[in-house]
Amino acid sequence: MRSILIAGNWKMNMGPKETADFFAQLDDSAQKNIEGVDAAVCPPFVSLSAAFSARKSGSAVKIGAQNVHFEDNGAYTGEISTSMLNELGCDFVILGHSERREYFGEDDAIINKKVKKALAAGVTPIVCVGEVLAERKENRHFDVVKEQTAGSLAGLSADELKKIVIAYEPVWAIGTGETASPEQAQEMHAFIRKELAAQFGEEAAATVRILYGGSMKPGNADELLKQPDVDGGLIGGASLKPSDFSQLVAIAAAQ
Ligand code: PEP
Repeated sequence: MRSILIAGNWKMNMGPKETADFFAQLDDSAQKNIEGVDAAVCPPFVSLSAAFSARKSGSAVKIGAQNVHFEDNGAYTGEISTSMLNELGCDFVILGHSERREYFGEDDAIINKKVKKALAAGVTPIVCVGEVLAERKENRHFDVVKEQTAGSLAGLSADELKKIVIAYEPVWAIGTGETASPEQAQEMHAFIRKELAAQFGEEAAATVRILYGGSMKPGNADELLKQPDVDGGLIGGASLKPSDFSQLVAIAAAQ
């Protein structure tokens, strides 16, 4: 009942020309409408227009941004508003990625404001949570993820929860080649869903998609996607290559 979402987070990679090349090389099979599967890429802001222009007409690949500001407009040098994302037609926005938490000082309160703003603008937030290695080693990963989830989603209604996507991204698995085992991913996803059920009710918790992120690639996607609470992937490195991205969509389609 929850469709699988394969979402590429391109981070600070792929300028407009590379973005156009990506779409030119992407398999038609990855762009067609597949029942039960959504595919999306999130290029840097400057490449969003190129992505919309290069995407073949009729392509089902959705396009998202990697961040947004929580104010409507004004003196916020370097920032981008939800109305700007709306003007382009962005479907998604990644919020609270661990790199934004670590390098740009974003905390749960800021992420919460952004989530609310994105929801009000009709852009689907992909809200990232996840523990660092030390927290897992100290067996604090459940507490950390619980706090991040509660803080990022504070004040949302059950109906709003249904409109968001959560990405569990253990920070020790991001860009490291190390992946959470399918069992580790399932354990945390089930925990997040249980916490959401306690806060927002069973129905909303059963509706929300929880993606796994952290070195997901064609070689490990199948076993991760087979887990009952893993509803897709937020994919960094492997999403930059059209052939890997196409394979990931095909693996999702085969579930
Ligand atoms: C990410 O940063 O969202 C991510 C999951 O990256 P990678 O797939 O490269 O680990």
